[in-house]
Amino acid sequence: MELSYSPQEEEFRARLREWLAKVLPTLPPKPSPGDWPARRAYDLGWQRMLYDAGYADVHWDASPTTRLIFLEETERAGAPYVGANFVGLLHAGPTIAAEGTPAQRARWLPPVLRGEEVWCQGFSEPGAGSDLAALRTRAWRDGDDYVVTGSKIWTSHAEVADWCELLVRTDPQAPRHRGITWLALPMDADGVTVRPLGTLAGSAEFAEVFLDEVRVPAANRVGAENDGWRVTMVTLSFERGTAFVGEVVACRRVLTELASAARENGRWDDPVLRRRLGRLEAEFRALWRLTQWNVSEAEASGGVPGVGGSVFKLRYSHARQDLYDTAADVLGPAALDLDQSWVLDRLSSLSYTIAAGTSQIQRNIVAERILGLPKGR
Ligand SMILES: Cc1cc2nc3c(=O)[nH]c(=O)nc-3n(C[C@H](O)[C@H](O)[C@H](O)COP(=O)(O)OP(=O)(O)OC[C@H]3O[C@@H](n4cnc5c(N)ncnc54)[C@H](O)[C@@H]3O)c2cc1C
Repeated sequence: MELSYSPQEEEFRARLREWLAKVLPTLPPKPSPGDWPARRAYDLGWQRMLYDAGYADVHWDASPTTRLIFLEETERAGAPYVGANFVGLLHAGPTIAAEGTPAQRARWLPPVLRGEEVWCQGFSEPGAGSDLAALRTRAWRDGDDYVVTGSKIWTSHAEVADWCELLVRTDPQAPRHRGITWLALPMDADGVTVRPLGTLAGSAEFAEVFLDEVRVPAANRVGAENDGWRVTMVTLSFERGTAFVGEVVACRRVLTELASAARENGRWDDPVLRRRLGRLEAEFRALWRLTQWNVSEAEASGGVPGVGGSVFKLRYSHARQDLYDTAADVLGPAALDLDQSWVLDRLSSLSYTIAAGTSQIQRNIVAERILGLPKGR
C-alpha cells in the first residue's frame, strides 16, 4: 500500500508548517506536570489558538489523511500535544461526531474545538477493566432522566473535566454486552465525587469517580438504550487506532536527539547500543507506515478506524517503553533526575501497555479478529 498526498493536502501541510513556525516561539512556558488547573488552562489556550487559526476542526471534519498531516506537522514542530483535551478531541468527540444526533453534535463538539470544555472517560471500574462488559454502574430510567449509581476508576483528567463519556448498565437481565448504554455525564451534577489517585511520577493524572443517584438527562444518551457496547467499540477504535498517532512522530524526534546525545557523551562507541538505536529507528519507521495503512483503511470505511488499531497499539506501547529504557542507558545517572521532562515520559511509558486496553487484550483481539484463531476458552 502506498499513501500519496493530493496537491490540496500538500498545500495544507505547507500552510500549517508556516503558521507553526510563527506562533510556537510566542507560547508561554509549559506549567509543571502536577499543576492540573494550570495545565488545563495551558492546553485549552493552545486549542483556542488552533481554533482561531482555522485548524481545530481537523479532528472531525477533515479527512483522515489531512488529520494525519496535522498530527505529523504539529509533533514535528514540537507544538503542545492535546493534553487535557485528549478524550474530548481524540475519542469522545469523534464518537459523538460519528454516533450523535445533530443536536448532540451542535451542543458538545464546538466547545471542545474552541478549547472551552474538557472530557474524561468513565469506562473502567474496580471489577471491569480488561473485561469491560462486566461493568456494574447502574442506571434506572426515571421520567426524562437516568438515575446513575456506581463507581469508576482510573478516570484520567476527571479532576478538571466538564463532561464524562460514561458507560452504565441499563438492563441487568440482558446478556451483558446488550445491557450497556453510553451517556454524557456533566461532572458538576449533584452526586458526583472525584477522588484523585497519585501516580509514580508524582502527579494525579487520574481519579476514582463515585456516582450517587446522579440524574443524567435521557437526551444525553448517545446511541440507543442498551446499544452502548456497539458505541463503545467506535470509541475504542478511535482511542487505539488514531489517538496515539502523533506520539510516533514525537518518539522519532526523541530518538534523533538520543543518537546526538550518545555521540556527544561517548556511548555511541558501544556497538550494542548502536544496534538498539538502529532497531528502534526501524521499529518507529514501521509504526509510521502502519499508521498510514490504518488511516487509508479508515478513509475507505467512512472515517472510523478498524481493528488494525490493536496491532498499532500493541507494538507502539512496547516500542515506546524500549525507547525510554534506551534513553536511560544513553543518559546514565541523569535518568534519576525527576526535573527532566523525558524522565517523567519514561515513567509514564510504563502505563502504555495497560491504558486503552492491556497488551494481553490487544493480542487476544489480533488473534481472534484479525488472524481468525479460535477463542482459548
Ligand atoms: C495511565 C492510565 C490511564 C487510564 N485512563 C483511563 C480512563 O481515562 N478511563 C478509563 O475508563 N480507564 C482508564 N484506564 C484504565 C485501563 O483501561 C485499565 O487499567 C485496563 O483496561 C486494564 O484493566 P485493569 O486495570 O482492571 O486490569 P485487569 O483487567 O484486572 O487485568 C490484570 C492483568 O490480567 C490480564 N488479563 C485480564 N484479562 C485477560 C484475558 N482475557 N487474557 C489475557 N490476559 C488478561 C491483563 O492483561 C493484565 O495484565 C487507564 C489506565 C492507565 C494505566
